[in-house]
Amino acid sequence: MSRAAAVLLCAGGSTRMGFDKLLTPIAGKTAIERSLDALVLGGAEEIVFAVSPATRAFVEALACPVPRQIVEGGETRAQSVRNALNVLSNADIVAIHDAARCMVSPETVKESIESAEQFGSGVVAGRVTDTIMRLEGGDVIPLDRSKLIRMQTPQTFRFDRIRQAYDKGDLGAVTDDCALYIAAGYEPRFVYTEGEAANQKLTTGADWQLALASYARFGTGYDTHRLVEGRKLILGGVELPFEKGLLGHSDADVLTHAIMDALLGAAGLGDIGRLFPDTDVAYRDADSVSLLREVVRQIEQTGLRVGHVDATVIAERPKIKPHADAMRARLSEAMHVFPESVSIKATTTEGMNDEGKGLCISASAVVSLV
Ligand code: MG
Repeated sequence: MSRAAAVLLCAGGSTRMGFDKLLTPIAGKTAIERSLDALVLGGAEEIVFAVSPATRAFVEALACPVPRQIVEGGETRAQSVRNALNVLSNADIVAIHDAARCMVSPETVKESIESAEQFGSGVVAGRVTDTIMRLEGGDVIPLDRSKLIRMQTPQTFRFDRIRQAYDKGDLGAVTDDCALYIAAGYEPRFVYTEGEAANQKLTTGADWQLALASYARFGTGYDTHRLVEGRKLILGGVELPFEKGLLGHSDADVLTHAIMDALLGAAGLGDIGRLFPDTDVAYRDADSVSLLREVVRQIEQTGLRVGHVDATVIAERPKIKPHADAMRARLSEAMHVFPESVSIKATTTEGMNDEGKGLCISASAVVSLV
């Protein structure tokens, strides 16, 4: 068995996006962490991180499941790779990967390492589906797209070969490792990714949206409160005219509670009991919609946004439907989505169960986060 190492390039600036694309979490995990996961799951047994002053502290604090080294990135990508190769000693294979290509799958990494073991290299590339034209002087020349490929990462090589290519090559003249490998006299072997989006590099805002969408998360929530006399009935942030209300420490808005629990579940942030303990006087008779706003604020801090909400209220009485639009308006505003993204349904239990006997009202919710 050959020993595979990986170089993870975390030194690129990200001026084009207006925020640091490598350090801003995408659905709870940064591009650096997602790339690291894929490399380790794909078979890398050691990682060399090439960092910038901006990413160094984050990488140093990162839990890495395999031995790691950290080197300073260079002025260019090629110089960063050379700095990283310089500290590797006992690797047979090295996978060189851009952290901004964080959607790479472990399977692709594994294939590229296996290709390098067998053929000396495994360079990940994509097919071209758009027609591409070359502009030359005043001429426009259509290129045969069946003969074009898009270079991606990881680019994986036998360590001795790529080391030699970097030692001898003109680093100023290339933008990827494969070009140096070819210049050193080797013939690359390619590993193709399926589809345009599978291994997209985070470059523009559209790439960022694509990455967020590909990590959509789902959560479910459920809540029940007892119906009693002498309390207001609040559902979905709206007061309903009724002779009874729900009993609870807060305003006991079961619908909003079920939605909050679903949101927290999808984000992996626990549940509302943990966030707003009913032993805390601060939440006595609290407006649950303001608690929902706090839940959404915490979720948005992790880089996630509410996608869609579908909720069901289980109650014998009163009728929910006449109030559903008002609930959707209030809840959607608190969750920063359009009312169309909030569905509120209602059902009775045909006189059965505690809901059917008018002892309580329950609600369940399913949400997606993107
Ligand atoms: Mg509750």
